[in-house]
Amino acid sequence: MDFVPVQYYLNYVDAHIGMGVLEAQGINCWLKDENTVTIDPILTNAVGGIKLMVQKENAQRALEVLQELRNEKKASLSCPKCGSHNIEFVSTPRKAINWISSILTFFLGDYAMAVDKVNHCFDCGHEFPREEKE
Ligand SMILES: [Zn+2]
Repeated sequence: MDFVPVQYYLNYVDAHIGMGVLEAQGINCWLKDENTVTIDPILTNAVGGIKLMVQKENAQRALEVLQELRNEKKASLSCPKCGSHNIEFVSTPRKAINWISSILTFFLGDYAMAVDKVNHCFDCGHEFPREEKE
């Protein structure tokens, strides 16, 4: 059976979200080069990232599902108060005062985002937590 890559990921978390979405649609898939990337992130570029592999006959469907996911992600980034799309994912000033979380954010980067950052609306100033979508 032929498997083809439908998407490349540079991080492990995104790759697993993509895989979960495809599996939820009944599309058989797996991640190639996952171990290489996880063990040594520096190698990520060298191997072209984590490849999301699906059966050739499911590739078209998989691409559509992944496209829908991207559209959904974009659409969900609107201010719940004023509906603006002028949203940035920012560190909360309140939490940045805490030097431990600042250091954690510095070292862990994306991994600390969920606890240390919020979506900030630049039109009305409203702040709201990032939505975790399964
Ligand atoms: Zn707003």
